[in-house]
Amino acid sequence: MMNNTAFDENDALLRMTVCGGEARVALLRTTHTAQRAGDVHNASDVAIAAMSRMMTGTVMLGVMMKEQEANITAIVDGGGPGGRMTCVAHGGDVKISMHNPQIALPPKKDGSPDVSGLLGKDGTLTVIRDYGVGEPYIGKTELVSGELGEDFASYYTHSEQTPSIVSLGAIVHEGVVLSAGGVLVQAMPGCSRQTLETLDLRAMLFSGISRDLFEDPLDDLAERWFHDLDMVKLDRQPIRYYCGCSWEKARRMLKSVGREQLLDILEKDHGAEMTCHFCHTTHKFTEDDIKALLGSDMN
Ligand SMILES: [Zn+2]
Repeated sequence: MMNNTAFDENDALLRMTVCGGEARVALLRTTHTAQRAGDVHNASDVAIAAMSRMMTGTVMLGVMMKEQEANITAIVDGGGPGGRMTCVAHGGDVKISMHNPQIALPPKKDGSPDVSGLLGKDGTLTVIRDYGVGEPYIGKTELVSGELGEDFASYYTHSEQTPSIVSLGAIVHEGVVLSAGGVLVQAMPGCSRQTLETLDLRAMLFSGISRDLFEDPLDDLAERWFHDLDMVKLDRQPIRYYCGCSWEKARRMLKSVGREQLLDILEKDHGAEMTCHFCHTTHKFTEDDIKALLGSDMN
């Protein structure tokens, strides 16, 4: 297909303000991150496209906050054959799991991946913001289309009362991610009606975002789309697929099942294996490991 001509740059998020600070913009490239997710989950093209859009949308949710340390979990459950998709982001680190990532569907008539066919659209997008202190904040919204871009926009507008434009896209061909990323435009509190209308009109420009990301670097796209809107670049943050699971963390999880359950595991299975849903690493526990757990303080 379009090999060798793809523009390549590291995955990143470019943050800026436009219209004298009345709105903020995030422009993301997630090509390599999407490729990693596709490889980890041995996913079909449409599932890679779905995961790519989901990861891009979830990273957007996290980086627009002042609290960069928050963990963002986004869950889409739309009743489609792909099953539930769960994505976790912490700054630019993101990971994803999906129930049936091997399900393949033909592209839609316009050639785009049938993401809504895979995910379904009768269900919800749930967002959990965990700041590490106090109760996590949980927001939920009905899916609009199951294509994810509109669904994230609806979440911002209804659950967080922030009028937003979200465009997400990916081009995947036979397991290879040629481009992936997205753009978020958000009105700040007190944004004028005139600015809102200007930004609304601009939304049409983003309709071919996967193609634009394929051809040009983020800086060029920012320039093309926003140069006449008093654009001020703020920063650039790297994005990567990162799980962060470990044997030690799995051990703590195993410990949390309680003494009774552990004794049961010891007697029946003589050991345990825990496979991570996000990176498919298997953490193994021998009989001695479990005995050590039982011997330690179980509280
Ligand atoms: Zn993992």
